[in-house]
Amino acid sequence: FNNELQRSEKMEIISELAASVAHEVRNPLQVTRGFMQLLSQNSKETEKEYFGLALKELDRASAIITDFLTFAKPELEHEVKLNVYEELKHVKGILLPLANLSGGTIKLDDTKDLYINGNSSKLKQAMINIVKNSIEALDEEGIIRIWAYAESEEVVIHIKDNGIGMDARDLERLGEAYFSNKSKGTGLGLMVTFRIIEAMRGTIHFMSEKGSGTEAVIRFPAANVSQPE
Ligand code: ADP
Ligand code: MG
Repeated sequence: FNNELQRSEKMEIISELAASVAHEVRNPLQVTRGFMQLLSQNSKETEKEYFGLALKELDRASAIITDFLTFAKPELEHEVKLNVYEELKHVKGILLPLANLSGGTIKLDDTKDLYINGNSSKLKQAMINIVKNSIEALDEEGIIRIWAYAESEEVVIHIKDNGIGMDARDLERLGEAYFSNKSKGTGLGLMVTFRIIEAMRGTIHFMSEKGSGTEAVIRFPAANVSQPE
């Protein structure tokens, strides 16, 4: 009689269930979003504002479900060789408008020829969660720096901000489910990020100081360069 096995079987069932529920809920959300957008086009200014808020909340619900789905099923289907700089450039492109909105900016160092194996959308999701936290931590003259390099069989990525920072107690709790200091936070972002990085055989390490900023260091095994893309 093996308790461990039983437990992992149970986990398997719960994961499957969570993944299918999340998947099923995402579809009606998308449909609702489409209709609301349509309605908002022919609406008065005051109504437009309400539609905008409602759409934002729908997007938030979708983001939570996406995070949850990844947590329940982090297996990396479609593993391919990824160009790290291209992936980071994409992440920067997605999040720069958000950083600008809070008066900050994102600087990505140009680094060619760094390759890892993984799933592009999962890697982006992991990086987006980290950079989003940095944006949300920014004060005035906020700057997020992202750079990457190769170091003995590994690709190392740094994401550094000059935001509000964290104390040792917060640092210790990163990645814990539902740990959040934000009024509208879910505390799922880093949990999902940690899980994706782990599934990609990588590691993540945070350094932070209250009042001066936070730096995440992520390491992945480098992909064989001679391997086809
Ligand atoms: P959420 O963003 O929904 O709160 P996360 O798992 O993404 O959940 O982050 C958990 C908590 O970790 C955040 O609420 C915040 O307090 C802290 N944190 C994460 N990244 C940073 C950062 N770059 N600067 C300051 N605090 C951070
Ligand atoms: Mg977050």
